[in-house]
Amino acid sequence: MRISANCSVLGLISGALAAGICAFAACSVPARAVAEELVLRGTLYEAGDFRVGERIPNCGRARTILTADLGDYGASIGAFIILNPQKLDRLSAATRLFVYSHECAHQLYGPGEERADCYAAKRGKAEGWLQPSDIDAVCRIFPHKSRSAEHPDRAARCAAIQACYASATRPTSAPSPVATRDGQTYR
Ligand SMILES: [Zn+2]
Repeated sequence: MRISANCSVLGLISGALAAGICAFAACSVPARAVAEELVLRGTLYEAGDFRVGERIPNCGRARTILTADLGDYGASIGAFIILNPQKLDRLSAATRLFVYSHECAHQLYGPGEERADCYAAKRGKAEGWLQPSDIDAVCRIFPHKSRSAEHPDRAARCAAIQACYASATRPTSAPSPVATRDGQTYR
């Protein structure tokens, strides 16, 4: 069961799932039991353990859960970043990092789709994993038509991302560590 709702009601899900869910393409609040199922049945990665290619994207202490049960590319539920590997594995590393960073922005700043997209675009430029030519591929995962008041349609969302990317002139966060073959990491 899904209950369409504004991100501001995310506090309805309490306890272990202190915040709620803000999915990548559709901002909705599932029943508490659905959110718990996603968290409990997924594969948990501690902060610093989740990799995208050679990169180890970080988001403070937020842990990552992979589950094919999520009906979207990504979501932010409580203190967790939830990703659907079945949907993400078909995409480029840049697009996967964009989805992770978008959900990370929800962890850091709460609701706000434009802000989350902008954070991901600026972070991608600062960290060097998002090139101008990657943005078209990122945009292809957005629905053509707006699914909610918080998520503009593809063209508007893409234009905003381009503008954020262009405006990013200096790193906005520390680069994510890159794993090396010998298991060491560097920034
Ligand atoms: Zn979002």
